[in-house]
Amino acid sequence: MFRLTYKQVRIPLKRTFTISRGSRDAIDVVYVALESEGITGYGEAAPNHRYNETAESVTGVFKSFESGGIKNPFDSLHVNEYIGSLHQSEFSAKAALEMAVLDWVGKKLKTPVHRLWNAPSITGPKTSFTIGIDEPSLIAGKVKEAEGYPILKVKLGSPYDREIIEEIRKATDKPVLVDANEGWKTVDEAMDNIRFLAGMNIELIEQPMPSSMHAEMTILKQQSEIPLIADESFTGREDLGTLSDAFHGINIKLMKTGSMRVAMQKIAEARIHGLKVMIGCMVETSLADTASAILSLWADYADIDGHLLVSRNPFTGVVVNKDGYVTLNDLDGLGVELKEDIFD
Ligand SMILES: [Mg+2]
Repeated sequence: MFRLTYKQVRIPLKRTFTISRGSRDAIDVVYVALESEGITGYGEAAPNHRYNETAESVTGVFKSFESGGIKNPFDSLHVNEYIGSLHQSEFSAKAALEMAVLDWVGKKLKTPVHRLWNAPSITGPKTSFTIGIDEPSLIAGKVKEAEGYPILKVKLGSPYDREIIEEIRKATDKPVLVDANEGWKTVDEAMDNIRFLAGMNIELIEQPMPSSMHAEMTILKQQSEIPLIADESFTGREDLGTLSDAFHGINIKLMKTGSMRVAMQKIAEARIHGLKVMIGCMVETSLADTASAILSLWADYADIDGHLLVSRNPFTGVVVNKDGYVTLNDLDGLGVELKEDIFD
């Protein structure tokens, strides 16, 4: 029998975070604690409006969790089947529950999850650090603040995309990734931007156009000199063969797939289709980022900077080492430790 407790927590951000869809100063995450036999596993849901999720909708899923629902926590298929039965969508809630089960299983077996899964290393790729949309005049300062991170990810889809990139390139020659967050609305607009970015030494572009514009994006893929990565176009439930017509790679996020196990399957499936794999995150805290970091051990790119953007982290876990690499620890379970009494 598992006892589930959950707690909604408001997490302020270090800086207002702006992307093509809007701005945020804080996020509402919901943490779960799953207890049985004196062992507690933890999970985090970071609901996202883009996928019609809120802290309230996530909490609704946790309310329907039954203490006898998970009969065998070591049977991952059964665990995912039970969690899947709680709701049709609400994938961030499902991700949190599965995280808590895996954390519990690792602690019960006194083994880190990355070791249970035979990870090749405890060090993932270098993570990119995100620079949100801002006034071009403020960009140089943001590049300075990000000086400890070797790769920048720049949010575009604003009225002044080119000025932002010109300011970035005046300030640094670091590798730069671009994320348009569906911000370019026609093939002509997107191709103009892609040609400009190709001249600015940009490594890759995430989600140039709305996910509904698959046909348009297949045209972009044929013409783009820069690899294109699907984020909003890839939730974890699309056909990867079809997606590979429009993209060179996919950004896998736990809050979209709703499951670390499913994410691992998608990494393998992406390889079959010749797709590059990025492990990304929502704006979220160290607990969810630690689970994402485990997946990144098998990925080409890591964009796991949620925990670096927030000013409150109730858990410790993954760290970004001095060279920028995502680095796990050898603690049992996911590798997280609670350091605030959030469940009291
Ligand atoms: Mg993205």
